[in-house]
Amino acid sequence: MRVLLKITGESILSKDEPIDYEKIKILGNRIKLIHEKGIELGIVIGGGNLFRGKDLIEHGFAPFKSHYIGMLATIMNALAIEEVFSTLNIPVRIFSAVDIPRFISFFSFKDVDESFKRNNVCIFAGGTGNPFFTTDSAAALRALESRCDLLIKATKVDGVYTNDPLKFDDAKKLDFISYDNFLENRYGIMDLTAIDLCKQGKLPVIVCSLFEKNNIENLLLENKRVGTLIYQEDIWPIS
Ligand code: UDP
Repeated sequence: MRVLLKITGESILSKDEPIDYEKIKILGNRIKLIHEKGIELGIVIGGGNLFRGKDLIEHGFAPFKSHYIGMLATIMNALAIEEVFSTLNIPVRIFSAVDIPRFISFFSFKDVDESFKRNNVCIFAGGTGNPFFTTDSAAALRALESRCDLLIKATKVDGVYTNDPLKFDDAKKLDFISYDNFLENRYGIMDLTAIDLCKQGKLPVIVCSLFEKNNIENLLLENKRVGTLIYQEDIWPIS
């Protein structure tokens, strides 16, 4: 099974460090366990721990340049992850959507496919390579281009809720939601472009908590149903 895991940059942020190596190490040990069980893993990392385009725009930066800075942030994160994962003996390759030939390979589906087959964890950096998008959309794109069976958005909350559960006590968690329903309700947990792409590619998406203990492990290694499935019908995509 080939899986694309989207994680926000905030997952490697701590109170004192914009890139917290200890947090990457904890993540790496979890990834190692999953990878060693034979699951082919791609990772899209965000840049929100360093820069988000919209924050810089609020400071008066030109929007396109703000997004360029955001994309570069994802590349810095990818390099940090590569470095820490290597110390844990996890074989890693980075592919960037932004051409930086001196130190990262440019994304090519052929090279990525080969890299997966050679047992590497593939990190996709630089978002989509275009301003005004998010790394959610990059995750959907890369999952489709590298023929993943599943996209996991691992985030702060454990699924899609009818309202923001951190703000509304009566928010209800959904176990399943169709692509169309998600798009009609414009749920904020994942960007709509990403879900629309997944709909076109019939790619199942699971939104779940990154921080709940053993959540991703339970999902991928124990076949447990976690989070919310976004798909065309309520058929669990892992067997
Ligand atoms: N970004 C972009 N194009 C992309 C992906 C990301 O311009 O295809 C920029 C955008 O400004 C975004 C920033 O990079 O705010 C960091 O990505 P994101 O906000 O998705 O990171 P996350 O919230 O997942 O950490």
